[in-house]
Amino acid sequence: SNDYAYSYSSRGNVAQKQRKLGLRSRGVNKKFVSPLLSGNESEEINKSEEDWVVSNENLQNIDPKMIEMIRSEIIDTGTSIDWDDIAGLNFAKAAIQESVIWPMLRPDIFTGLRRPPRGILLFGPPGTGKTLIGRCVASQSKSTFFSISASSLTSKWIGDGEKMVRALFAVARSQQPAVIFIDEIDSLLSQRSDTEHESSRRIKTEFLVQLDGASTNSEERVLFFGATNRPQELDEAARRRFAKRLYIPLPEYEARLELLKKLMSGERHSLSQDDFEEIARLSEGYSGADVKGLCSEASLGPIRSISMELIHKIQAEDVRPLMIEDFKSAFQRVKSSVSSEDLKQYVQWNKDFGCGF
Ligand code: ADP
Repeated sequence: SNDYAYSYSSRGNVAQKQRKLGLRSRGVNKKFVSPLLSGNESEEINKSEEDWVVSNENLQNIDPKMIEMIRSEIIDTGTSIDWDDIAGLNFAKAAIQESVIWPMLRPDIFTGLRRPPRGILLFGPPGTGKTLIGRCVASQSKSTFFSISASSLTSKWIGDGEKMVRALFAVARSQQPAVIFIDEIDSLLSQRSDTEHESSRRIKTEFLVQLDGASTNSEERVLFFGATNRPQELDEAARRRFAKRLYIPLPEYEARLELLKKLMSGERHSLSQDDFEEIARLSEGYSGADVKGLCSEASLGPIRSISMELIHKIQAEDVRPLMIEDFKSAFQRVKSSVSSEDLKQYVQWNKDFGCGF
C-alpha cells in the first residue's frame, strides 16, 4: 500500500498548530502508524506536542527517502529570530510585516484584494540579512522553515532535482503554515537558457509550476522566499513569480551602530559611545556579515597580546577587555566585501524591478 504515515519529533508547536487548524488529515490515512504510539486514536489525543505527523495525501507519491532528507537537512529548527535581532532594514521589515506576517496570522481577514503575495524576492549584496529575514518571518508567523541553497538542489540531486523540488513543496504544504527559503535563487531561475543542462531546465520548469500552484490556491499558507546577490540573472518568467521584490541594502550608519552594540553586548570591552560611533563611521560600505567579521577579528586582539607561554595558564577573567585599538588593527585586516560597482547594479535593478524605496 502506498498509504503511509510518517512521524517524527520536531518543534513542539507545530503539532499543536496543525491540530488547531485541522490540517492533520487524519481521515486521509485510515491507518495511522506512529513509531511512538500504538496508533490507537484515543491515545493520539494525549500525544505529546513533540510529535509531528506528516500524513497527507499529497505525500503519497513522494519518495520517503526524499521526505527524510527534507526533514533532516532542509527543515530548519534553529533558534527563533525576532525582528529586533535584525539591525536596520526598517523598510523591508515593515513591508514584510504588513504584506506577509499579518496575512499568515489572520488569513480570514486578508482575502480578495488583500491576499498576500506568495513569492518574495530578497535581493542585494551578500551578508546583509536576507537569510535572517527568512528565518524571522518563519519564527514570527509560527511557520515551519524550509531552507536550502539552490546549488545544493542542482548538485546533490543530479537527475532527481525536479522530484526534489516537488517533494519540497509537497512537504511544505503538509506542514503549513510554511516558509520555503531558497538561497542563490538566480542559479535555479537564470535566463541563460542556451547553456542550461537538460536537468537544470527541468528543475526550473518544476519550480515555476510549483510557484504558480502556490499562488493560485488561496487556501494555502506556503510562503516562498528567494534570495539572490545577482538579481540581474533572473529572467522575466522568474521575476513575474515574485510579486514582491525587496532590496536588502548594506547597513546604514545607524544600523551598523546598532549591530556593533548588539555584537559587543556579550563581550568584555572598554568601548565608549564615541568609540562605537567611530567604528560605525569607519565601517562605511561594510555588510552586516563584514561588521561581524570585524568584531571577531578585533576580539582576537586581547588574545594576541598574550604570550604563548601565558596562554596556557592565564585565567579567562584576566584576559584584557577589548579596546578601540583592537578595532583599529582589525580594520587593516577586514575590508568591505562588496564593490561599489556591484552596489550600482543593485540600485539600478531596484529602480527597474524593485518594490519600494
Ligand atoms: P545573506 O544576506 O547573505 O543571506 P545573512 O542573513 O546570512 O546574509 O547574514 C549573515 C550574517 O551576518 C548573519 O548571521 C548575521 O550575523 C550578520 N548580519 C547580516 N546582516 C545583519 C543585520 N541586518 N542585522 C543583524 N545581523 C546581520
